[in-house]
Amino acid sequence: MTAAATSIAANLAAVRARIAEACERAGRDPAEVTIVGVTKTHPPSLVEEALAAGLTDIGENRAQELLPKAEALEARGLAPRWHFIGRLQRNKVRGVLPHIAALHSLDTARLADEIERRADRLEGDGAAARDPLPCYLEVNVAREASKDGIAPEQLPELLHEASKRRHIAVAGLMTVAPLVDDPEQVRPVFRQLRELAHAHGLEGLSMGMTDDYAVAVEEGSTVVRLGRVIFGARRS
Ligand SMILES: *Cc1c(COP(=O)(O)O)cnc(C)c1O
Repeated sequence: MTAAATSIAANLAAVRARIAEACERAGRDPAEVTIVGVTKTHPPSLVEEALAAGLTDIGENRAQELLPKAEALEARGLAPRWHFIGRLQRNKVRGVLPHIAALHSLDTARLADEIERRADRLEGDGAAARDPLPCYLEVNVAREASKDGIAPEQLPELLHEASKRRHIAVAGLMTVAPLVDDPEQVRPVFRQLRELAHAHGLEGLSMGMTDDYAVAVEEGSTVVRLGRVIFGARRS
């Protein structure tokens, strides 16, 4: 193993231990929490090392990065479950759709429309019938001007729109919590996302990043999106 691979495996073991502790405190089963390793800015070789370390789910936030990485890995016979976690422009849906296992950032009806249209075309082109794409609706719980996502009161409308689409399976809700010094400060954000999800009969909660994932898991996260804590500082 390379030095990078060794540290990825060690970091992942530490993350799993912290998730297990958070689950223990919350009376949850760690098997309910999926780790998505966020590899943005890192090369395909690092994704390969992450898979060797036992990760199966990989997150990217830009189409321009996901596509060449997915192709490089495919050429080596590797097919992680790709999660698209960033803002997805409608003109990128066509390229990204054949590769991804889930979208964490659905936040407009127009994006839902485009997914529906492109998935229909893929079927029409004779591709095998596809399962609906699991999508998380992104909610800007903390109402930060700088963040993507809908306001909580827009959820019923977007949920209604997304649920009508044959090629979309609403998996739950996603949020990116504000940057704070102490993760306890964002506990109410995670709690609010959970309450919002459960009020609408949704189970999936994509919440928790490097600085706040233990709190997110205590508050019910089912998917944590982790970059730096597994892979170290991002490359520019
Ligand atoms: C980059 C990114 C992450 C991972 O961030 P870390 O703090 O490095 O764990 C998670 N979610 C989204 C949407 C991101 O863009």
